[in-house]
Amino acid sequence: MEPRGTKRGAGKIEVAEPRNKLSHPPSSLPTDAVLYSGPFPFYRRPSQLGYFSLDAERQYHGDARALRYYSPPPTNGQGPNFDLRDGYPNRYQPRDEEVREGLDHLLRWLLEHRGQLEGGPGWLAGAIVTWRGHLTKLLTTPYEQQDGWQLAASRFQGTLYLSEVETLAARAQRLARPPLLRELTYMGYKFEQYMCADKPGGSPDPSGEVNTNVAFCSVLRSRLGNHPLLFAGEVDCTDPQAASPQPPTCYVELKTSKEMHSPGQWRSFYRHKLLKWWAQSFLPGVPNVVAGFRTPEGFVCSLKTFPTMQMFEHVRNDRDGWNPSVCMNFCAAFLSFAQNTVVQDDPRLVHLFSWEPGSPVTVSVHRDAPHAFLPTWYVEAMTQDLLSPPKTPSPKN
Ligand code: GDP
Ligand code: MG
Repeated sequence: MEPRGTKRGAGKIEVAEPRNKLSHPPSSLPTDAVLYSGPFPFYRRPSQLGYFSLDAERQYHGDARALRYYSPPPTNGQGPNFDLRDGYPNRYQPRDEEVREGLDHLLRWLLEHRGQLEGGPGWLAGAIVTWRGHLTKLLTTPYEQQDGWQLAASRFQGTLYLSEVETLAARAQRLARPPLLRELTYMGYKFEQYMCADKPGGSPDPSGEVNTNVAFCSVLRSRLGNHPLLFAGEVDCTDPQAASPQPPTCYVELKTSKEMHSPGQWRSFYRHKLLKWWAQSFLPGVPNVVAGFRTPEGFVCSLKTFPTMQMFEHVRNDRDGWNPSVCMNFCAAFLSFAQNTVVQDDPRLVHLFSWEPGSPVTVSVHRDAPHAFLPTWYVEAMTQDLLSPPKTPSPKN
C-alpha cells in the first residue's frame, strides 16, 4: 500500500505525518488561496480504465452505447446558426433530480472490474474513489465565492469513498429554479445535440429529443501527490479525427456561454467560467473544450476551441485570476485532511465535510441513514471477496 498522510504542495498547512501517527487530526481545513500557492504538485497523466453508459431510462450498461461523435458544422464561409431553444419544452426529457444516485453507477463498474484493475494487488485499498465532478468542486474551492458543498466520506477495505451531499441551500435553489434557468440548462444539452452524431462520420440530428438521462462515463485512474485516484466523469463526445485517438485525449467537452463584446466581459469570462472549464477537463485529461457563444435570443453563431492546457494563459498575468497550482495544492491538502480524519474502516460510518465560502472546511460524524452512501449490494459483494477471493487466472491451474 502507498504511504498516506504525507503531502506535497501546501506544506504550510499541516505537519506531514502518517495517518496513524496523528492522534489529533486537525478539525478544520482553511481554503484561502494564498495558503496553497506552492509549486504545481505531481498529477499522474490520467489513463482510462474503462467506461459505461446510462440509457434514456437511466439504466446502466457496461458498454459505450451512449458515446457520441464530434461532428462540428462545415467551416465553409458562414458560421453556425444553432437555435438552442428549438424543442423546448416539448422535446425535453430532463433527468429526475430527486433520485439520489450517489456513487452507485461507478460502484457497479468497480464491482464488475475489481478483478482486472491495474496497479497491482492492493492498489484499490490505497485509492480514493469519487466522481470527477466532486474533484472539480475541490479544485475551484479556493476561488469560489457563491456555492458551498458537502462531501460525505467513508472508508471501506482501505479505500476512501467520497460522495457529494446536496446542501440545503443548493436544494432550495434547485426547487426554486426560475423557468429561465431551466431553459438555459436545456440549451446547453441542445448545443451538444447540434455538435454530435451517433456514429463516427455521421451527421447530428437535432430533430430528436434531448434526454439528460443519457450519459457516457469514462472511468479514469490518476494520482495527485501521493493520493491514487479512481474517478468517473461524463464525457460529451469523442473526436473520430483526433490527432491522438486514444482516450481520454480524443474526448471533447462542449460548453455554451454568452456572446461577449467588451474586453471587460472577456476578462470576467476568463476569471470565472474558464476556471470551471479548466478544472473539469484537466482532471480527466480532456484536451479541448469547444465553446458555442450564444446571442441573447439563444442562437449559437460562433464556436471557439479552448485547449485545456492553454486556459491558464488567459489569467497568468491577472492579479484577480486563478492559478492551477492553488487548485491542485488545495485538492491535495483536502485529500490528506480527509485521509487523516476518516480513520475507522466502516462502510456505515460517514464523515461529512462541509464548506461555505469565507469559512474553513469543517467535519461532522454520522452513522447509517441518511448519510451512509455505500450500498448494501456493494458492501456485501466486496465482503464476500474477503471470504473467497475472486480467482485470477494463473498459467498453472
Ligand atoms: P460533472 O463534472 O459535474 O458534469 O459531473 P461528472 O462528470 O462527475 O458526473 C457524475 C455523474 O453525475 C454522472 O452520472 C452525471 O450524469 C451526473 N451529473 C452530472 N451533472 C449533474 C447534475 O447537475 N445533476 C445531477 N443530478 N446529476 C449530474
Ligand atoms: Mg458539456
